[in-house]
Amino acid sequence: MTQIEAKASVMEIDLYVGGKSSLEGVSNVTKLSSNENPFGPSPDAQEAVKRCVHELHRYPSSDHSALRNALAEIHGLKADNIICGAGSDEVITFLCQAYGGEGTEVLYTEHGFAMYRICALAAGSTPVVVKERDRVVDVDAILAGCTDKTKLVFIANPANPTGTMIGMAEIERLAAGIPDQALLVLDGAYAEYVEGYDGGAKLVEMRNNVVMTRTFSKIYGLGGLRIGWGYAPRAVIDVLNRVRGPFNVSNTALAAAEAAVRDTAYTEKCRADNARLRAWLSEALAEHGVPSDTSTANFVLARFADAEEAKACDAYLQKQGLLVRQVAGYGLPNCLRITVGDEPGCRQVAHAVGQFKAGAR
Ligand code: PMP
Repeated sequence: MTQIEAKASVMEIDLYVGGKSSLEGVSNVTKLSSNENPFGPSPDAQEAVKRCVHELHRYPSSDHSALRNALAEIHGLKADNIICGAGSDEVITFLCQAYGGEGTEVLYTEHGFAMYRICALAAGSTPVVVKERDRVVDVDAILAGCTDKTKLVFIANPANPTGTMIGMAEIERLAAGIPDQALLVLDGAYAEYVEGYDGGAKLVEMRNNVVMTRTFSKIYGLGGLRIGWGYAPRAVIDVLNRVRGPFNVSNTALAAAEAAVRDTAYTEKCRADNARLRAWLSEALAEHGVPSDTSTANFVLARFADAEEAKACDAYLQKQGLLVRQVAGYGLPNCLRITVGDEPGCRQVAHAVGQFKAGAR
């Protein structure tokens, strides 16, 4: 077996892509399986994409300065401390390529996002998984799991697929407690859904061992264009730029992302709509005997009696043209992760879960 064959493959690790993105033979599929924004991107971002048609023969900017400046302006950050990637997945990949490798450990928690394991293995690092406490990241368990080989500690806040998050005091305790050679990566893919939360940006500025990653795939509705970014101390940015390809992000993605981040009214509307529909969905599911933890993101983790019931409900939903996500691969076999859709989507999935709980198969 070659070294590469020994590593994880995105294709093998079905839990990330979820296996099915369409349902053959079923028309009108409602996709609530990938935490996408059901309202799509800002109209300004769509216009920006159309304008790019005239630039398709041109290589994109290699320093991404227009997008970095827009992010800095809108979020009150330093443009020189930003790096852009083809999705935040690529920033996570850069971190593992640059700081991981043989003899190093990459730590994440038991229900942590799949990409941490994929990237750790691809870089030759040893993945180290620590327990959570009732589906919430446990700072003490992480600190106890660190060794002199730990190079990266990943937590998503809010977390996927649990939807839970920890407070800033806990994050600060984590940043202060990890070993000197390690970096804490705060994955803020869902940060925009939390009112008043900066994803850890200020902490990045205060410390030399914290990195924040963000994406345009969630609230900004640009998953198909593959664009994300990271915020880190200058020394880390310099290292990441050494593993980044010069044209890693397309001109279309850069233009759409800049327009999207500048359309703050649209983002605010998506945040408010998501909060309202999320509350409605979790209450409707609870009324049907399917509880969920309080979610801070754009999905709910619906809990069933056992793994068998969760699987049977998923199969029933598929028959109704509803795609949600089984999360057994994340150590949550009795749960289904359901993205907060638009109002018809939320009503449809709540109704179908109700029918299933009432005995429909
Ligand atoms: N982090 C978390 C926690 C996620 O859920 C996702 C997407 N599912 C990502 C990162 C990656 O997002 P992208 O590569 O599309 O930016």
